[in-house]
Amino acid sequence: NADMAMYRAKEAGRNNVQYYTAELQAGIAGRLELLTRLGQAVERGEFRLHYQPKFDLRSGRITGAEALLRWESPQGMVMPETFIPLAEETGLILSIGHWVMRTACLHNRAWLDAGIGPIPVSVNLSRRQIVHGDIAAGVAGVLAETGLPAELLELEVTESMVLPDAEQAAAVMQRLRALGVRLSMDDFGTGYSSLSQLKRFPVQSLKIDRSFLREVTTDPDSAAIVKAIISLGHNLDLRVLAEGVETAEQQAFLGANGCDELQGFYLARPMPAERFAELLRHQALAA
Ligand code: C2E
Ligand code: MG
Ligand code: MG
Ligand code: MG
Repeated sequence: NADMAMYRAKEAGRNNVQYYTAELQAGIAGRLELLTRLGQAVERGEFRLHYQPKFDLRSGRITGAEALLRWESPQGMVMPETFIPLAEETGLILSIGHWVMRTACLHNRAWLDAGIGPIPVSVNLSRRQIVHGDIAAGVAGVLAETGLPAELLELEVTESMVLPDAEQAAAVMQRLRALGVRLSMDDFGTGYSSLSQLKRFPVQSLKIDRSFLREVTTDPDSAAIVKAIISLGHNLDLRVLAEGVETAEQQAFLGANGCDELQGFYLARPMPAERFAELLRHQALAA
């Protein structure tokens, strides 16, 4: 896990110095300490949202962005894979998730008001928000408060999040759809029964998991899987996005095989909200 954390820290880029709290490796007392700090992070204003653009493969235009949570703790920047599982286990994810939802909608409303939208923004949900939280009421409240048109909010779920309680999850997702928000299946292909289960969930798009992208130009099996996901998605009338695009070769493969949208370090890394707004402003001027 420490290796994983180091790997992600390196991955996150040069300008972005990362620290990994020793607490994580320090057993129960350390976890409690980390948990206490995590519990105070919302009120202390230590969370930030970064945005990673999504691009239309054919036009190259920005079609949306994914909000990704960053914790600027006094010990330094902490990446979500370090603290989301802990937040999920303890239920803290409900208040953190609400902060993420509200902040993303406020940002997006501001961009709309500044004339640099409309741009759909997606927010990652966690399992507990679907299973235990009243997520539809929460989303309705945030949309009413911010006045953001519902279709400019997209929620990303994963198969591992919705499959264990498929019936309940599907019902919650229907309520979300009734509000007008869009839904997307993230990390697609990694769940064990993806294909047969997919039709139960009212999603409008699929995000191909980046593990398949990694070897798409070198491993024929990965290439076959990616092609199969693209045609499955299209046959179900879904938009298909590839995440984790890191090279021109991967982009070319996806283009040749009809993928709709791209997201990945090759095109743009996650960035602070102000920088994403700048990017949108340029695109609006270029139009
Ligand atoms: P995800 O939703 O699948 O998000 C994509 C992750 O892949 C992000 O990592 C992003 O920075 C990274 N990524 C994007 N392009 C590339 C690329 O070309 N190469 C590589 N190697 N990585 C790329 P990040 O921001 O560290 O987030 C990790 C995970 O944490 C997310 O996976 C999501 O499951 C979770 N997460 C992030 N923010 C939130 C949040 O607000 N709420 C919840 N519940 N989960 C979140
Ligand atoms: Mg996601
Ligand atoms: Mg993903
Ligand atoms: Mg993920």
